[in-house]
Amino acid sequence: MEKKEKKEKKSELLLNTENGWNRIDDKELPSLEAYAKEYISFLSKAKTERLAHDFAVEKAKEKGYVSVSEKEKLQPGDKVYISHSGRTVFFILIGKKDITEGMNLLGGHIDCPRIDLKPNPLYEDSELAFFDTHYYGGIRKYQWVALPLAVHGHVVKQDGSVVNFSVGENEDEPVFSITDLLPHLAQKQAEKTIAEAVTGENLNLLIGTVPVKSTEAKLKVKEKILQILNEKYGMKEEDFNSADIQMVPAGKAREMGFDRSMILGYGQDDRICSFAAFKALMDMNEIPEYTAGVLLCDKEEVGSYGATGMQSFFFENAVAEVLHRMEKISLVDLNRTLSKSKMLSADVNSLHDPNFPEVSSPNNNMPQMNRGTIIQKYTGARGKSGASEASPEFVAEVRKIFNTNGVLWQTGELGKVDLGGSGTIAYYMARYGMDVIDCGPGLFSMHAPFEVSSKLDAYMTWKGFKAFLNYKR
Ligand code: MN
Ligand code: MN
Repeated sequence: MEKKEKKEKKSELLLNTENGWNRIDDKELPSLEAYAKEYISFLSKAKTERLAHDFAVEKAKEKGYVSVSEKEKLQPGDKVYISHSGRTVFFILIGKKDITEGMNLLGGHIDCPRIDLKPNPLYEDSELAFFDTHYYGGIRKYQWVALPLAVHGHVVKQDGSVVNFSVGENEDEPVFSITDLLPHLAQKQAEKTIAEAVTGENLNLLIGTVPVKSTEAKLKVKEKILQILNEKYGMKEEDFNSADIQMVPAGKAREMGFDRSMILGYGQDDRICSFAAFKALMDMNEIPEYTAGVLLCDKEEVGSYGATGMQSFFFENAVAEVLHRMEKISLVDLNRTLSKSKMLSADVNSLHDPNFPEVSSPNNNMPQMNRGTIIQKYTGARGKSGASEASPEFVAEVRKIFNTNGVLWQTGELGKVDLGGSGTIAYYMARYGMDVIDCGPGLFSMHAPFEVSSKLDAYMTWKGFKAFLNYKR
């Protein structure tokens, strides 16, 4: 007897919007779970851009990558990296084709919204010691109070020596917190808008309460903190002036939901893409047709400024270093290599959140959790202003790559037209004339201390990135 068809045949004319968990092959589930586990472990360790950078460089070295300065000549199969200031790094695997035919590139950012310390952060008020802070990136300030926070410091002393420290990530270490008003006394605060209820100057971190015994010091609690910092790290107060000290939500990322289908953790924008991109490159065991490159960059959350942001010349300088080692020293070689490259600007997107349906783009134009990674043709705000829109030709290519490699994907639109907008590194890369499109999974609670992702969407992003790096055009 013939088996009855389980389901009615779907129309091939309509977009397939079925939930990814019903579309993914069950045989893939073990590798999806393995991927999620590895990603959660990365997210738990790489809490700052420096830690993400160092994690990647260390892993890459294990895979045979060396600093470009160690190579005089480059040939197919060679693996090198170029790093800047320990915060931005470009990994490249030389392919078989001449590099001036273009590269297949992925670019994500490893900086995340957080709370930085001011240059003179340490003060005492009412016999309590505090750190005064200046937040980094687009945080919603009310979300960062009354939470356990960890501190990660990179302190450069006058003699150039560096002290790196971290307090609050391990369970036996203390944490820190920004206090909030008790509801009993918050009547006036409650009348304010969310933007005004907790201000930037309210974000003061409580770090100690015990005074020194000496009777001479005026600020005895502050003095005590300085004593501790001096004992542990050899620091004096002026050393804060030449330091990067960041406060991030303390603790590890973890699985979320009774069905364990999601991941809750700090910094998923954009370490979810950075990890997927980096791992996709590290997984390449054969020499690819086209040179494959992965860019993990800094300062995206503040507009890509500075020497380690993508508005700098870091990327083209890095490519020039590579070309120089292939005896391609003309500007034309550099221009051709860049303009013929193709890139997925690997960044996260929003998702339809039924708690806030009023901001969702209607008519199947809002990404949904578990429908796979998101291809976003354009970003920008109010009339696509500031957008780097991908050509339909390139969108078609990416569609084909994903569809022929079993990558579940959907299109993206940040939300309702005219409500807001955003940008990524895409438009800085598009200046070279290369094809660029934004691609990555969606998140709930983006830029919040703990962001939510779907394991399936994270896995499909990695799968899509692998297929893209191996794309033969
Ligand atoms: Mn981002
Ligand atoms: Mn962001």
